[in-house]
Amino acid sequence: MNVVETVDVTYQYPDGTKALNEINFTAPEGKIIALLGPNGAGKSTLFLHFNGILKPTTGCVKIEGNPVNYERKGLKKLRQRIGIVFQNPDDQLFAPTVAEDVAFGPLNLDLPKEEVESRVEEALKRVGMEGFENKPPHHLSGGQKKRVAIAGILAMQPKIMVLDEPTSGLDPRGASQIMKLLYKLNREGITIIISTHDVDLVPLYAYQVYIISEGNIIKEGSPQNVFADV
Ligand code: ADP
Ligand code: ADP
Repeated sequence: MNVVETVDVTYQYPDGTKALNEINFTAPEGKIIALLGPNGAGKSTLFLHFNGILKPTTGCVKIEGNPVNYERKGLKKLRQRIGIVFQNPDDQLFAPTVAEDVAFGPLNLDLPKEEVESRVEEALKRVGMEGFENKPPHHLSGGQKKRVAIAGILAMQPKIMVLDEPTSGLDPRGASQIMKLLYKLNREGITIIISTHDVDLVPLYAYQVYIISEGNIIKEGSPQNVFADV
């Protein structure tokens, strides 16, 4: 089953910028899918459609087979199924401590306090950030911030994780830690969608690669096919 599917999605920003042109993108359940393209190609804009932050100008977005319901309740449900990690962790981390940050999502679900606490503990463990509960997020390194942002998404127990340039701005060690973590989460059953311009890492692990340029998908296929003639 395709857990994410866009059908002819076109998006124009209110200022007239045409960011996406008839995008047909699918992510099969349990796979790692990579979206590759230069800055300004439309990667972030496409991802913001996956959890209903943006609504297509024309076309349709389906998550787990259902067209996105843009009413408040629909979006709240959607965001428990699919989590987005933004490119800049500072856009995502705003609580005074790591633990409070990771607790933010589950608290919004009105879960009992004990359930929230156990989710926070488990999520921080999964990303290797146990022991950092009481630290202010802005004291962490770039890679640690990324992992805390990922923990905040994991605490929502999503089936699908979308990560915008998860390795950008990290040193090689930090980048490789993040990629290893993503493969681990994928093996545990989470569908992973990443955008990147780091061609090196992608062919090794992605099931399907899409190349986007100026709002158009210009190539798609297995890493072997997509990179065969570059
Ligand atoms: P990215 O490469 O991840 O899209 P950008 O630096 O392009 O990051 O964008 C940073 C922020 O500025 C985002 O919130 C994006 O929506 C916004 N942005 C980017 N381009 C424009 C633009 N032409 N007009 C207004 N906002 C923009
Ligand atoms: P990428 O993530 O691949 O860097 P984006 O999706 O951020 O690309 O941007 C796609 C296009 O949309 C770019 O031309 C960018 O300047 C424009 N854009 C992004 N955000 C905004 C915005 N908030 N308002 C207007 N234009 C935007």
